[in-house]
Amino acid sequence: MEFGTKLIHAKTGIGEHYGAVSVPIYQVSTFNQEASDNDGKYDYSRSGNPTREALENTIAQLENGYAGFAFSSGMAAISSVLCLFKSGDEIVVSDDTYGGTYRVLTQLFNRFGIKAVFADTTNVAAVKEAITPQTKAIYLETPSNPFLSVTDIKEVATVAGEQEILTIVDNTFLTPYLQQPLELGADIVIHSATKYISGHSDVVGGLVVTATEPLANEIKFIQNAFGAILGPQDCWLLLRGLKTLKVRLEQQQKTAHQLAQWLQEHEEVEETFYPGLTSHPDYELSKQQTSGAGGMISFKLKTPEHAKQFLQDVQFASVGVSLGGVETILTQPATMSHASIPEAKRLERGITESLIRISVGLEEFTDLKQDFEQALEKHPQTAK
Ligand SMILES: *Cc1c(COP(=O)(O)O)cnc(C)c1O
Repeated sequence: MEFGTKLIHAKTGIGEHYGAVSVPIYQVSTFNQEASDNDGKYDYSRSGNPTREALENTIAQLENGYAGFAFSSGMAAISSVLCLFKSGDEIVVSDDTYGGTYRVLTQLFNRFGIKAVFADTTNVAAVKEAITPQTKAIYLETPSNPFLSVTDIKEVATVAGEQEILTIVDNTFLTPYLQQPLELGADIVIHSATKYISGHSDVVGGLVVTATEPLANEIKFIQNAFGAILGPQDCWLLLRGLKTLKVRLEQQQKTAHQLAQWLQEHEEVEETFYPGLTSHPDYELSKQQTSGAGGMISFKLKTPEHAKQFLQDVQFASVGVSLGGVETILTQPATMSHASIPEAKRLERGITESLIRISVGLEEFTDLKQDFEQALEKHPQTAK
């Protein structure tokens, strides 16, 4: 079955409901049991809920995995996966990673003796160098946030697999429509479903898919024991959002290409980062391991002041954190999405206040261009 059809007809695995074409919301915490020693398929909604199960089965099929799991946020999904590890374990992590992931690793899981070793995972030699006998996993974000640099998932997963190290991929930016990490050898895929999977900026949620049954059993245990589950109403919203994932991303990606090309040529713009541009250093790799570069762009203006001014001058693009919604959202990573990374580390990674990230929405390109153009040119830094 083609991906677009799967979005509509994936098997929910939860039985028939009078022919209803949308999955019912099972707004229930507990289930009547036939006898004290005979509970049915469900007994308590932390352990399992039919609406959640429909979502979990759907994402598992979309990622071509063994099983899926829904959590109360992307961070809950990430933290639950990190509960696979124990004191003394090390995890090699992409150095260009989401601020919240950096924070939970360096300020919370470090308390339990789990050590994050940050490395430039786009360079496989750096990954090999970071691996020690204590390394239990490699955690990748590709394309990375905010620079959209690309890690070769297959190459890293091969190195990891040879040493019985897990490969975990945060697939939030591309979704299974454009990138399927399990097919490239990864063991676990994570999503902030808050972003493209929801697609409408109205749910906070997280998803995990494992490649194998043993890993699924471990995550299932953690999900029930740790308890950071997603409620049935939010599961339903994600099921609804998923149906239009392909058409949304297809359009957002098309507009992103046009915008990136336009930004790249604009004299007020210092540098544009979009893996779909032939000028991007990872253009070839991106083409090889994905079926598209997605809807995220970053660009640098000439001064931090101009970036701040630009964000004030744009008219209908929203300024905020988050991404993947139907509306275009602009972020200044240094002060917003990546503010939880200490300044020195941020600057080391090139995340200055001149950098702006765009999550391209469903507005028409001509309107976005016009809005950006007037905002860029209101206070030009380039002498005319
Ligand atoms: C937003 C985001 C997260 C965290 O997800 P929440 O749903 O906000 O908890 C993790 N990874 C990436 C790449 C994100 O963009």
